[in-house]
Amino acid sequence: MAVKVQKFGGTSVADIDRIKHVAQRVIKSVDQGDQAVVVLSAMAGVTDNLIGLAKDASDRPDKQELDVLLATGEQTTAALLAMILKSMGYKARSFLGFQAGIVTDQTPGKARILDIQSNRVRQALDDGNIVVVAGFQGANQNGDITTLGRGGSDTSAVAIAAAIKADVCEIFTDVDGVYTTDPRICDKARKINRISYDEMLEMAILGAKVLQIRSVEFAKKYNVPVHVRSSFNEEEGTMVVNESNDMESVVVSGVTCDLNEARITLKRVPDQPGVSAKIFMPLAEAEIIVDMIIQNTRSGGETDVTFTVPKDDLERAMEISKKVGEEIGATEILFADDIAKVSVIGLGMKSHSGVAATMFQALASENINIRLISTSEIRISCVITDKYAELAVRTLHTAFGLDRE
Ligand code: ADP
Ligand code: ASP
Ligand code: MG
Repeated sequence: MAVKVQKFGGTSVADIDRIKHVAQRVIKSVDQGDQAVVVLSAMAGVTDNLIGLAKDASDRPDKQELDVLLATGEQTTAALLAMILKSMGYKARSFLGFQAGIVTDQTPGKARILDIQSNRVRQALDDGNIVVVAGFQGANQNGDITTLGRGGSDTSAVAIAAAIKADVCEIFTDVDGVYTTDPRICDKARKINRISYDEMLEMAILGAKVLQIRSVEFAKKYNVPVHVRSSFNEEEGTMVVNESNDMESVVVSGVTCDLNEARITLKRVPDQPGVSAKIFMPLAEAEIIVDMIIQNTRSGGETDVTFTVPKDDLERAMEISKKVGEEIGATEILFADDIAKVSVIGLGMKSHSGVAATMFQALASENINIRLISTSEIRISCVITDKYAELAVRTLHTAFGLDRE
């Protein structure tokens, strides 16, 4: 007997027929004697529709109320699946996030899970129930509803798997597993059978939305084996696991693309100690995540500072930058949101040279101009103009020998 957490994403629960199909899939495990906790997303498109409604209701929807609204998407699917399972003669019950004991911090819209008090879930399992949990949501310490950020049901699932010490967390989605790049952009993408937590984490951070970033952080921290697989077939998918020696033989294992960032430049700021702190402290205080930073020194003791922020935070970041820019005497504050960040990722980069050169050469061969570069131990990222993003992904995929035969 295994204890399994099975998470189904939006397309897998898009309508009643698909939810019935999910029920079939779940009872297959249960009939074999497994205990199952099923974590669900909202039906495909529902979260976006709810955000649309909120924007119709108010120019700047109150974040607390937005969480209350968005959490209803997952409430719907959880209740429907539990209903279907019961009508099929199985013992089942649904839990909202807070009922499943998911305690988060106070940040509406992107709350972090602090703790899972899993006693009710455990009890329900031991009483012979299939436990259905609404993903993407929890409650803060005051009991107010919070949501975990887009794609957050992945994190609900992995966190519950860690809390109940499940044998595996299965992420059922609309692709067969984790691919060398987004299979919707590159038809030569290959399915990866096993990937390390660290590579998966980089891929998630750099734009592969197949797993939410925090779900991979949880999986790594608590050693949860994650199996990403299709909800539409029985094929084995991708196991996300600890690094093993053979993994380093592959230099580049994946290519990603992120269209969710924007660039800000402060022109001609004084090249003096303390200036960077003045620029980035208020952004940090506003909880805006700054990703890439570069500084181009000019003559005459001045420098241009360029950095990237999430597109959703661009407006606030520009307000802050304008204020700071005035204080420190920047001559101009510019922004661009027509950018894309393409990245190559691989554990093997630790021990191989020439990856950056190959990447730059490949982009140059398609006449794609690189605007910003950043690197870490296992990845290299370039910011380019967004309209070349897909071409860049396909070009890099070929250049690093990842294409399927
Ligand atoms: P779900 O609704 O099941 O959570 P998501 O849409 O959040 O599904 O994530 C699955 C999608 O992630 C796929 O449809 C695919 O387009 C995209 N994706 C991006 N990069 C990758 C990758 N490297 N491997 C697999 N899927 C990827
Ligand atoms: N429904 C939420 C979203 O669309 C959470 C999820 O699907 O994981 O982002
Ligand atoms: Mg998702």
